[in-house]
Amino acid sequence: MLDEVLTPEERAVVARAREFAERHVAPNAARWEWERRYPLETIREGCKAGLHTIELAKKHGGQGLSFSCKLRAFEEISRHDFAFAFAMINHHNAVARFARDGQPTHVARLLPRMIAGEVIGCAGLSEPGVGSDFGGLEMSAVKVEGGWKLNGAKAWITNAAVAGLSVAYAQTDKAQGYRGIACFAIEADHPGFQRDKPFELHGGHAIGVGGFRLVDYVAPDEAVLHPPGQAFKAALAGINGARAYVAAMCCGMLQAGLETAVRYTRERKTFGQPVLDHQGVRWRLVDAATDLEAARLLTYRAARLIDEGGDAVLPAAYAKKFATEMALRRIADCIQAMGANGLRAEYPLARHLACAKIAAYTDGSIEMMNERIGAGLSQVFGAQVFG
Ligand SMILES: Cc1cc2nc3c(=O)[nH]c(=O)nc-3n(C[C@H](O)[C@H](O)[C@H](O)COP(=O)(O)OP(=O)(O)OC[C@H]3O[C@@H](n4cnc5c(N)ncnc54)[C@H](O)[C@@H]3O)c2cc1C
Repeated sequence: MLDEVLTPEERAVVARAREFAERHVAPNAARWEWERRYPLETIREGCKAGLHTIELAKKHGGQGLSFSCKLRAFEEISRHDFAFAFAMINHHNAVARFARDGQPTHVARLLPRMIAGEVIGCAGLSEPGVGSDFGGLEMSAVKVEGGWKLNGAKAWITNAAVAGLSVAYAQTDKAQGYRGIACFAIEADHPGFQRDKPFELHGGHAIGVGGFRLVDYVAPDEAVLHPPGQAFKAALAGINGARAYVAAMCCGMLQAGLETAVRYTRERKTFGQPVLDHQGVRWRLVDAATDLEAARLLTYRAARLIDEGGDAVLPAAYAKKFATEMALRRIADCIQAMGANGLRAEYPLARHLACAKIAAYTDGSIEMMNERIGAGLSQVFGAQVFG
């Protein structure tokens, strides 16, 4: 549906992402989970394949392609592993944002290493005590000569296990609220940076989620990406895109779930017939297929609006809410259709179910999507008077 509006070059990028995932991600994803490991070597392979420069401007050495192209590429990768795809796309985002917003001397020094995959990037908004309410973050930044002194902790950060550069947000003046927030490029090999041990979860270890602390860390003036007054707005500017691609990645996981469940239930017999021929099972998978179709339509609409520069706030919120809720319910249905075998590690479904739960938090939880959609209810539905 979305591929029709992509250029031939962009369709080739999507095809390359699919091939990359089949070759490098599918055979290894279960093992990464088993070993609770961040697949740095495969992230670097992904960099060689250009998975982190799809949207990066050509003048910075990127491919300069559309958001829709990036979204489709990562939907394909998520069919095999949401966790790897999420880690890779977060590196992509850090590369593109640092190139766009960083100061030229800083960018000239670090961007080539990020493009080469030597330095992995991450985005640091969340903290041990702050998640949904981003405006209330507590990491502090105090102006000193030649730079800013930062203190505080970040938590639940994708790629934190290895990241060398964090696009991190800190409060410069609590009294100013969200207007006091500034954004810095934080380097992990500078004094005052302390990395936490990656978090142990029940799934999604390839995300490399964890945290770090800054103790009297001095960020030079050249490391300011957005001064106070501009950083909050800049953080929100990318959020619609993140919501849309998380929705697309949920579609990728359910696509894999349906393919697995349909193949399995066609072969497996109970009461003398294929499980798929039992109406009770078939209808459950029909519901999953119908939800997948609807989620794709919502997601692709949001992606196109983002590329066209339209207002994607509500479309992205609808897409993320619908796609994450549907993935949670329908991946579980695919497992159910396969009986106990659906739980086996040789199938991706249980991994995908854990990652659907992760998707329900990242880049705005389901409740935050409800708040977003709720704020517009009156405007969208309140104008018409009946009776
Ligand atoms: C694997 C993973 C990777 C992540 N990667 C990153 C990353 O790279 N960078 C980053 O900055 N963050 C990252 N996050 C953090 C993510 O953005 C937060 O988990 C999310 O913002 C929710 O915050 P919280 O978990 O602290 O929940 P809280 O904010 O503590 O909320 C707890 C619960 O209350 C609900 N809630 C909160 N406020 C309201 C309200 N007003 N109305 C109704 N319900 C409400 C929430 O939806 C949630 O269900 C990641 C999280 C995970 C799980």
